[in-house]
Amino acid sequence: MFEKILIANRGEIALRVIRACREMGIRCVAVHSTADSDAMHVRMADESVCIGPPPGTDSYLSIPAIISACEISGAQAIHPGYGFLSENARFVQILEDHGLTFIGPIAEHIRIMGDKITAKDTMKVLGVPCVPGSEGGVPTLEEAKRIGEKIGYPVIIKATAGGGGRGMKVAKNAKEMEQAFLTARAEGKAAFGNDEVYIEKYLTTPRHIEIQVFGDGKGKAVHLGERDCSLQRRHQKVFEEAPGPIITEEQRSAIGKVCADAVAKINYTGAGTIEFLYENGEFYFIEMNTRLQVEHPVTEAIFGVDLVREQIRVAAGEPMSFAQKDLQINGHAIEVRINAEKLPNFAPCPGKISAYHAPGGLGVRMDSALYNGYSIPPYYDSLIGKLIVHGRNRDEALARLSRALSELIIDGIDTTIPLFDALLAEKDIHSGEYNIHWLEHWLDQQSS
Ligand code: ADP
Repeated sequence: MFEKILIANRGEIALRVIRACREMGIRCVAVHSTADSDAMHVRMADESVCIGPPPGTDSYLSIPAIISACEISGAQAIHPGYGFLSENARFVQILEDHGLTFIGPIAEHIRIMGDKITAKDTMKVLGVPCVPGSEGGVPTLEEAKRIGEKIGYPVIIKATAGGGGRGMKVAKNAKEMEQAFLTARAEGKAAFGNDEVYIEKYLTTPRHIEIQVFGDGKGKAVHLGERDCSLQRRHQKVFEEAPGPIITEEQRSAIGKVCADAVAKINYTGAGTIEFLYENGEFYFIEMNTRLQVEHPVTEAIFGVDLVREQIRVAAGEPMSFAQKDLQINGHAIEVRINAEKLPNFAPCPGKISAYHAPGGLGVRMDSALYNGYSIPPYYDSLIGKLIVHGRNRDEALARLSRALSELIIDGIDTTIPLFDALLAEKDIHSGEYNIHWLEHWLDQQSS
């Protein structure tokens, strides 16, 4: 096992990794920008290295700075968290070349899944169901129109290098195709330096269901059921739950097995998430994330496993500590993302925390790097905390969420907490009847 791990991240996820390391008897090295000298992850780690000025590109995204920090501290492995360098194949390749262990999949798997066309082609071959669409890239408008006629409108045009909801355009009919095709290409070029696009059937009322998989890198893999992350604003998840309110045991085992078998076949290492749109009982692959997800705690809650500990174990060459038959669902879990944002426009709202009190009690977990008097710097993502509740069933989890939110105090800045109080008063949230458009429609209604 490793003696020392460097955590190439900040905020709540850096704390999450430190906690797993502590329980495993592994020493932790934090890295931080000059804006984060007083951050909680720096205080909680065994040692820390300053890696540069505030902007992410000069610090948390600087490959030379992070490799130097490894060399100075003598860390043997790097946990990337999520975001930043977690899905950067070049970074992983450089670590592999330096004899440092990346706690995650090999560079080749990150590369395959980072290009959406290659990812989809690979998944198709591995037997994973995909959204009907073009075979690979679509080079011309004429070709795009031909495909639109063939699969039927509406269609979505996607940049193969896209991410974070950018480089995607919907065309409702042939007339809209030209504009949508050219815009998606231009966005792909501007944001990702790649104007290749492909086309998919646009599903009108799907849910976002994702399957957690885990592989040992030697051909064994399991699935840990699904998370329903349909409540999204601008393609960003805000509320996630497991198990999915409308997924049956039969559907779960069937799609779970397809996903576990697919990653087993490629000798995938560590945690991964295969994302699907789900409509009328069918699953359609959209992308695979080759890292730990923000919303992993809901899966940990219902399966009673520590996914970070497991990531570290397999990266060190140890076997996974569970087999598929050991993984049984217990109850229901919900996560809400607390952002430093001012409603109703969700404008970023960094600043000084004048009072902080985290909720507690049975079935409550608060993952956050906040503390009294902490100043949230303006340079990074606005996620400042995740409140996760676990109950024996969905109704109990919802009641517990409401109770825990009433205990939570974050003063001095605006947060998205009032959004969740309002959502908990909605009957669709209680019945679980929502799709990926529900939240946007609801927000529109609130503001009109
Ligand atoms: P990104 O990498 O930018 O997050 P994804 O491919 O994961 O892009 O898609 C993001 C979101 O866009 C999905 O969660 C869904 O809301 C919507 N979306 C993507 N593909 C389709 C599709 N074929 N039909 C309908 N909605 C889609």
